[in-house]
Amino acid sequence: MKIRILLLCLLLQAHSAWSQTIVRRDPAIEAMAREVSADSLKAYIDKLVSFGTRHTMSSATDPKRGIGAARAWVVQKFREFGRNSGGRMTALEDTTTLRPDGRRVDVPTLLGNAMAVLRGTDPADDRIYIISGHLDSRVTDVMNRTADAPGANDDGSGVAAVIECARILSRSKFPATIIFVAFAGEEQSLLGATYLADQAKQKNWNIDALLNNDIMGSNHSNETNIINNTRLRVFSEGLSVQDTGRALNNLRNLGLENDGRPRQLARYVKEIGERYVDNIEVVLIYRNDRFLRGGDHTPFAQRGYAAVRLTEMNENFNHQHQDLRTEKGIVYGDLAEFMDFEYLRKNTAVNLVSLANLAAAPPVPQEVKVDVRNLTNSTYLYWKAPKTGKPKGYYVLLRETSWPVWQKKFFTTDTNLRLPYSKDNYFFAVQSVDEEGHESLPVVPAVGR
Ligand SMILES: [Zn+2]
Repeated sequence: MKIRILLLCLLLQAHSAWSQTIVRRDPAIEAMAREVSADSLKAYIDKLVSFGTRHTMSSATDPKRGIGAARAWVVQKFREFGRNSGGRMTALEDTTTLRPDGRRVDVPTLLGNAMAVLRGTDPADDRIYIISGHLDSRVTDVMNRTADAPGANDDGSGVAAVIECARILSRSKFPATIIFVAFAGEEQSLLGATYLADQAKQKNWNIDALLNNDIMGSNHSNETNIINNTRLRVFSEGLSVQDTGRALNNLRNLGLENDGRPRQLARYVKEIGERYVDNIEVVLIYRNDRFLRGGDHTPFAQRGYAAVRLTEMNENFNHQHQDLRTEKGIVYGDLAEFMDFEYLRKNTAVNLVSLANLAAAPPVPQEVKVDVRNLTNSTYLYWKAPKTGKPKGYYVLLRETSWPVWQKKFFTTDTNLRLPYSKDNYFFAVQSVDEEGHESLPVVPAVGR
């Protein structure tokens, strides 16, 4: 074999059967992660709470109270950060008018997402990465638009993470584009996210990944009384619902029910998040969302995009969707005093390093195939270079069929690799990687004849 195979890394799994090596961190991303500030996050949330309610059908025009004022403030923060971006980051309110739908919208309503777009530096690179949270808040009755609905954690935490990532990432240059968005209408049935996902599909946006952050800043559960600020859940769908008919048969034949695009993204967030952020374990949950509940990543996952939900490990239902009140000594309501801003800092940093690593990386390799022309006990993979960018090389990933995360990474500068591991017993995927070690999302090989 003329190429040198370099066994680069074995993931830092405590339960791994393989020996371990450590992948080096990129000092530039390390420095960005250090900038994430618990104080900034708390300040954003205090400001969001100060608008009284951010219910989707609260006032769109009152300058002090309601979702309109909150949206204007988020856009103003984005514009402020945009001034440090050399004109690359612009902000907008993307609005539409909703008609009453007989369900959770009962009057004509202005629906508006607050967005910032940090344009990539390579005009030929059409990749888009999205980080999102939802701006709207609610109390016990989902139609109550007048009561105070602080929404500090649901979803002030997610919006604060989006704002903080915009602040830090807007100062750096990436070949790909990053979009920061605070959705409206989440509690009224994912309306703002559906609105953007429809536009993305119509305009054929190349969304490579979407990280949705919803409820991620409280460290203790009610009822079971668990306290933990070192674990972050990532919910992902294993099998894309797009896969029907022949595509589904193919997945079945190849046993790829655990390798859909959202699941690959979840593994990526775990690897990169744990690479750069100390004292956090990213926990893969093999579900699109919590049991029978939903979030703003769902309209994107349903349209075939790699979209996942990041959420705290233990939810506290005394402080979620509750009227502000005290009953039998228990304080109900979604207030900042029940949050852990050090935990939120780490969870925000997981988003930041994942986005930075993705947007800095070259695009995925093209036409990745596994050779099946002969029966062999080794595995031969081949692929083509990405559409744009200049990868230094490629990682071929390997894991046992029953293993949750990739176990080995082999580096090559070539566009093919033969490995002494049987495709019957392992899953494989290929990533592009640049000089600084930023890797693309993995691509699972198609059958090559
Ligand atoms: Zn929420």
